[in-house]
Amino acid sequence: MIVTVHNKQQVDAVQRELTARGLWIASVEDAPGGESLLVIAPFSAVVDPDELRRIPGVSAVAVPKSAWPLVRAMGPSLNVGGVVLSSQRPLVFAGPCSVESQDHIDSVAARLAGMGVAFLRGGAFKPRTSPYSFQGHGARALDWLRQAADRHGLRVVTEVMSEADAEAVAEHADVMQIGSRNMQNFALLRAVGKTGRPVLLKRGMAARIDEWLLAGEYLLSAGCQGVAFCERGVRGFDDSTRNLLDLGAVALLSHGERLPVVVDPSHATGRRDLIAPLVRAAVGAGAAAVMVEVHDAPGQALSDGAQALSTAELASLMQELRLGREPLPSVDPEATAHA
Ligand code: PEP
Ligand code: MN
Repeated sequence: MIVTVHNKQQVDAVQRELTARGLWIASVEDAPGGESLLVIAPFSAVVDPDELRRIPGVSAVAVPKSAWPLVRAMGPSLNVGGVVLSSQRPLVFAGPCSVESQDHIDSVAARLAGMGVAFLRGGAFKPRTSPYSFQGHGARALDWLRQAADRHGLRVVTEVMSEADAEAVAEHADVMQIGSRNMQNFALLRAVGKTGRPVLLKRGMAARIDEWLLAGEYLLSAGCQGVAFCERGVRGFDDSTRNLLDLGAVALLSHGERLPVVVDPSHATGRRDLIAPLVRAAVGAGAAAVMVEVHDAPGQALSDGAQALSTAELASLMQELRLGREPLPSVDPEATAHA
């Protein structure tokens, strides 16, 4: 933001008013006609420009145009059929990496619902590095996931990998997940945006924050109701963990950009022993939700068992952090019916 001050004599007083509001003045510049320009650093506190316009001595406040105006206008919370994602009350998304069978997803869902988990996750379409690894059970797993969630009062988040599946996934999911590998698949972003469903947009593994926000802008400009940004780790130089969890990005998006952020410590680390400490850190950094892979027998999971907690481990972590304690509104089947 740039604050214009009528004349030089008023600069000190205006500067004091700005710093008292947590604003950081990056520079003071002379302007034609004896006015002065106070340039506010982008990392300053969030303040309503109209409040600044009322400070005596201020003649104008200019707010630079955003490259992601729809993302900026979204605000820090996202309402998904009555369930509100907000850092004021972080939610838990949990479930197996892949939907393994109808019975399996149903029994996991039953346990998670009893613990206060809000969203059931599980991949029907799996983006695997090798074409010879388990690829997911496809469309029939969408039915299993939806039925399990409905039976136990949970919402569904699941990945859509292809434009051809966008409608089918939108019919089954409350939130559609765009995976890390597809964050800049613009044709997919447009097709998913058109369905109107809210989206969990995972950060590309080598994506800059501006690229991530612009991917959100693609979704919103195509008609998407709202986007939650999911930090799942970026490629680092050290392979002790699967990826490098960028908690700075979580704080930047939640506190700086005031957006709903979800943190996925399972894919970020690849290690079940690091999930609990990073869930604590994610909540501290401003996450509106955490997404954790869970499995009743992690050693036998069809994918990503090494980064899954058992349901009992997740339950004790949730108790410790007092997550999922308040009851969620009941699932409205109409809300998930395709609009
Ligand atoms: C997932 O959540 O199932 C997944 C594949 O994650 P990512 O896109 O972050 O690798
Ligand atoms: Mn996984």
